[in-house]
This record gives sequence, structure tokens and C-alpha cells, in this order.
Amino acid sequence: MSALPPIRGHEDVRASLARAALAGELPGSLLLHGPPGVGKQRLGLWLAQLLACERPGGEPCGACVACRLALRLEHPDILWFFPIARPKASGGPDRLAEAMEEARAEELAARRENPWRRAAPGEPLGLFLPQIQTLRRYAATRPAMARRKVFLIGDAELLVPQESSPEAANALLKVLEEPPADTTFILTASDAESLLPTIRSRLLPVRLRPLPDEEVARCLVEERGTPPREAERIARLAQGAIGRALGFLPDDGEPGPLEALRQQALELLEAASAAPAMRRLAAALAVGPAGGRGAFTDLLEALSLWLRDLAATAAGAPEQVVNTDAADRLAALASRLPGADLAAANGIRLVEEARALAYGNVNPQLILAWLLRSLHATLSPTPPGR
Ligand SMILES: [Zn+2]
Repeated sequence: MSALPPIRGHEDVRASLARAALAGELPGSLLLHGPPGVGKQRLGLWLAQLLACERPGGEPCGACVACRLALRLEHPDILWFFPIARPKASGGPDRLAEAMEEARAEELAARRENPWRRAAPGEPLGLFLPQIQTLRRYAATRPAMARRKVFLIGDAELLVPQESSPEAANALLKVLEEPPADTTFILTASDAESLLPTIRSRLLPVRLRPLPDEEVARCLVEERGTPPREAERIARLAQGAIGRALGFLPDDGEPGPLEALRQQALELLEAASAAPAMRRLAAALAVGPAGGRGAFTDLLEALSLWLRDLAATAAGAPEQVVNTDAADRLAALASRLPGADLAAANGIRLVEEARALAYGNVNPQLILAWLLRSLHATLSPTPPGR
């Protein structure tokens, strides 16, 4: 049985990668980059399977031993590294490296069990130096059964954990500078710019674009049993990323993490556009610190989408609205604010500024307080001083 769900979309990219692989012209190191949740690591696993396949064509055959092992995440020459929480191991560096390999093995086992599983929120994840040293040791060995080894390094932007030096990145750079001939490296990153330029320059960049809404909706229906109309609604919110769509699905009867943030963002927007300052402050304080930087970025993304929807509603283009279940609340907001479309456009710029601050590691609560004050000045029907 396959542990991996079927790959979806990115047909053009797959076709050109397969052509290059069959012609023996695939570069030894690639960077798959594109929006979060668009399927970069799934495509990396597809390419790894294609390289291992005994009868490759435009696609991996799916039936040979190598393909079956790859689909079960059990192929010995396909090594998938990804960010983990730092284990609390005591002892020397060797013990730490071991603990990290155990953590990776546990996560792989969990993904075999449930390929749709979400990372537990909270603990910061990183790709640490001992993991890269382990990777380099594997890279120096011969393939076990295929012609080559493939290393997939997911979320490579987390190679440089914020609080430490870029030593993990430098260790990876060393192996990319002199890659063993029988090895392919596939890195993935949502933000290619955040990789060290020295690493980026060693990689062939391959850009993945958002999937069509229909493809995302079909995935939800076929893989998650989502009712078709609900799947369509969520697909619009997901902006072409299956990984994001999953975040809107209910989880044990609770709203999914992205759905919860979407609701929170609407409350913030309504609070920011209301006249009394008290309501704004209350709403800002109600936003807890849960989820860390990732959740805060998702909250800003949700706010930005609401503002776009507000602009579309005010401009009389409701067909462009993605939060289709909230047309009434958007219309109410738009009718309350004269010039709502321009104000919303200004609001989107403010959210962009907030995002830049968040990347600069400013405290989320401080950013949010600033953002709400600024949004209020832009969106309020009675701006202060008038
Ligand atoms: Zn095959």
C-alpha cells in the first residue's frame, strides 16, 4: 500500500523534469520553490521516485519494486530530511545527532501512517547542524539499490535557525560544492530569498505555481471526503495550495488552524474599522501568542485576503471575493466605510509592512497593536482629528 497520496498538478514542471532526467541532463542540485503548501516536497518525492524507478518514462512506473518502496517512504536511497523540534538529548554531539535521526525516523513513521498529518503547533522547528552532518555521512556512501541516492531537504529556509549561526547551512554548502557523482540534492523553500546566496547559486531553481482551484477542490473531495461545495469554498481560500486547504478543514470537531485564524482576522478587521478605540484594543488583546511566528504570518495573510475581499465588495466585484461565506459581513463593512475600496488598498499595504516587521523578529503583539492603530486610522468612518 502506498503511504503517499497521488501527486497533483504541476504537470508542466513534471514533464520538463522527466525529459531532463531521461536525457541524463538533470542537474545534481535543484531548488523547488513556490508558495507554502503548494506541494514542493511531494514533487521532490515524485522526482526522487522517478530517479529510482526501474522503468521510468514521463512518470515513474508506479509498479516496480523501487517505485513501491518510494511510495511507502521506505526506499533506502531516497533520504528525506525536514525540520524537526530540537531533541532534549544529553551527552555529546554524537548522542545529539542520534537523537535527531530518531526524531526524523519517528516523523517518517507517522507520515507513513498518516500522510496528511499536520505538524504540532508550538515548538520551533529547524534543520540543525548534526542533521546535515548525518546527511553528509550518508552522501559519502554508495547507493543501496538504485543507481543514485536522492536527498530531499524540505523547508530549507529553516537551515538557519534564528538564534544560531549559519553553521548548518555552511555544512550543507560544503557537500553541494563537491557533490558525490551518484547523488541528487533536491531542496525546497517557500522563500528562496532567505537561503544563503552561496547555497542558492549552487541550485537550479524550479518555480512551482499555485494549482487551479478545481485541482485543490478535487483533492479535498477524493482524499479527505469533503463535500464538493465545501471543497470549492475552501479551495478559493487556499489560493492554489493543497497544504493550505488542509488547514481550513475541521480537526476533531474544532475549526482547522487556518480557519480559526481566518475568523480571528475578520474580527480584527471589524474591530479596526469600528469607531470606539476600546473595542479595537480588546480585539488586539484577545489574540493570544499561540502558534508562534508561523501562525502570526498566517493571520496577516488572512487579514490581507479579507481586505482584498472588502475592496472587491466595495468596487462592486463580488465575484472576486474568496471568503464567499461572509458576503453579508463584507457588504455591511463596505457600506459603513465611504471609499472602502481605497481604504482597503491602503490597509493591504499596512499588512505588508506588518509582515516585513514580523520577518525582522519584532514582537507579534507590538506589530498587531501598531497595525490595528494604523488600520483604524485608515478604515474608521470617523478618523481621529477630523
Ligand atoms: Zn517504477
